[in-house]
Amino acid sequence: MVEVNEKRLVDRFVQMVKIDSPSSHEREMADYLRKELEALGFDVEEDDSGRDLLQKLGDIRGAETVRFAGNLIARKKGTGLQTDTILFAAHMDTVVSNKGVTVKNENGVIKTDGRTILGADDKAGIAAMLEAAQLANEQQLPHGDLEYVFTIAEESGLNGARLLDKKKLRAKYGFVMDSGGPPHVVIGSSPAEIDFCIKIYGQAAHAGVNPEDGINALAAAGLGLSNIQMGRIDGETTVNVGVIKGGDKTNIVCDYVGLWGEVRSRNQDKLAWQLAKIQTAFAMACEKFGARFEMEEQPIYSGFNLTEEDEVVQIAFEGVRKAGMSPVLAARGGGSDTNIFNAEGIPSVNLGVGASNDHTPEESVTVTDLVQATRLVLGIMEAVAERAGAGAKA
Ligand SMILES: [Zn+2]
Repeated sequence: MVEVNEKRLVDRFVQMVKIDSPSSHEREMADYLRKELEALGFDVEEDDSGRDLLQKLGDIRGAETVRFAGNLIARKKGTGLQTDTILFAAHMDTVVSNKGVTVKNENGVIKTDGRTILGADDKAGIAAMLEAAQLANEQQLPHGDLEYVFTIAEESGLNGARLLDKKKLRAKYGFVMDSGGPPHVVIGSSPAEIDFCIKIYGQAAHAGVNPEDGINALAAAGLGLSNIQMGRIDGETTVNVGVIKGGDKTNIVCDYVGLWGEVRSRNQDKLAWQLAKIQTAFAMACEKFGARFEMEEQPIYSGFNLTEEDEVVQIAFEGVRKAGMSPVLAARGGGSDTNIFNAEGIPSVNLGVGASNDHTPEESVTVTDLVQATRLVLGIMEAVAERAGAGAKA
C-alpha cells in the first residue's frame, strides 16, 4: 500500500480549514487551491459561475466586496496510459463561516473548540485529492488523465455544480469526495428532490365582530397538514413541511398561510405520487373551508441509482480494496454535486471522507480517515490504470 505523508496531509488540511469559505465567499480558498494545484502540475481554469450565481441571486451589488470565486477545473495529463479521463470533485465552500476557528488534534481526532464548525465537509475531500496527486507525482504512480473539479456554493443548493459548463468536462466517470461516511462506503444512489410551496388564501374578518364573514386560512392549512403523511414514507421516500407562515393578529381571521416543504425519493413515480397526495389533501381542506389554494413545485435536483453492475461502482470498489478496506454500496438521503454530474451524463459516486457531525460545532474527522481517503483516491487512479493494462503496483 502507498505510504501517505501523514504530517503533510494533516498540515494541509488544517491550513485549508483555517481559510474561511462559506458559500459564495470562496475567493481565498480558490486562490490557495490554484497555487497548490499548479505546483502539482495541474492546468487550472476558473469559470464564471461565481458571478453568474451572484447575479442570479440579485446580489451583484456586493459582488466586488464579497470577493466571489468560480468553480475550478484542474487538468493533469496522465502518465501516458490509454485510459478514459476520470474526475474527482469536492466543494470549496462550507455550510457556514468558521471565522476564528481553533483546530485541535486529540489523539488523532481533529475537531474545533466547539465554537465553530470545522469544515472537514468538504476540506477533508480536498486534502485527500491534493495529497493523492502529490504522492502520485513523487512515487511516479501510473495514472490516466485527471480532472479535479472544485465547486463553489454546494452547501447553498449545489449551485456551483449546477452552473458549471459540463461541456468543459471530458471525464467518463466521476468520484465525488464528499460523503460523511467512512472511506469504504460508496454512495451509489441518492434521491431526487422537489420542493413545494402551498399558498392558502382565506378571507379576513374581525374575529369578535363578524367572524362568520371570514375564512380562516390557518384552519384550512391545519386540516390539510393533518391529512398528509410526513417523515419517512418508505425506504426511499421522505416528505417534510418545514416552514409555515401566516396570520397577523389574534383579532383577525387569518386570510393567508404559506407552507414550504420538500419531497425526496429515489423512485420518480413515488415522488410524483407524494406530491399528488399533498396537493389533494390541501385542495380538499381548502374546499371544506371555502379557501383558495395554489401549489408550486420546484425541482431541486434529480436522483441517481447506480448498482454493482455499473463500471463506476466497480472502479470505486477496486479503489476501496486497494486502500485495504472492504467496500460497501449505500444510499444517501441528501443531495450532493454527485446528483448534478450524474444528471449531466457522467456516472458518478459519492465517496466517504470520514467527516462526522458535519454542519455542527461537533464536526470532526480522524487522521486515519484522512489517510484512508487519500489511499482511496490513489486506489481509484490505480484501478483505472490497471484496467488500461498498466499492471498492478502493490
Ligand atoms: Zn459536503
